[in-house]
Amino acid sequence: MLHTDNILILAPHTDDGELGCGASIAKYILEKKKVTYAAFSTCSQSLPKEMPADTLVKECTAATKALGIGDTIFFDFTVRRLLFHRQEILEELIRINNELKPQTVFLPAKNDVHQDHQVVYAEGLRAFKMQMCWDTNYPGTILISIQTILKRSVKKTLLLKFMH
Ligand SMILES: [Zn+2]
Repeated sequence: MLHTDNILILAPHTDDGELGCGASIAKYILEKKKVTYAAFSTCSQSLPKEMPADTLVKECTAATKALGIGDTIFFDFTVRRLLFHRQEILEELIRINNELKPQTVFLPAKNDVHQDHQVVYAEGLRAFKMQMCWDTNYPGTILISIQTILKRSVKKTLLLKFMH
């Protein structure tokens, strides 16, 4: 059980928040908690040339909107190069902390080997050291299973939206 109302999701890339803790996000939205999502790379460099550069921004916007997230923040740091922008990322996180004052922050998993995930995990801990931080691989009771939330009718509606 999470006893805070203002939650921040830190996603290195545009799908990491949903993949890492999407069921928890859906649960907290149902509980009327404020959830903000910040993505640090739009990964446009990883897309095939024939795809528009904002493809993943549009997908992430649709996914977070379907989950009911009010605010999504996008940064456009180069994918696989977040380490080169570590200090800028830290400063953006500090700015977000000052503006949003989240009580709980969800980070990438501590043991994730992806270089971008490691940067967001480390800088997230640094910027939000006074808040409750959970990495998305935490085996405790904060993160819930997808089956729990799938039982709720709202989630079924969300799934129907994603299938179209
Ligand atoms: Zn990622």
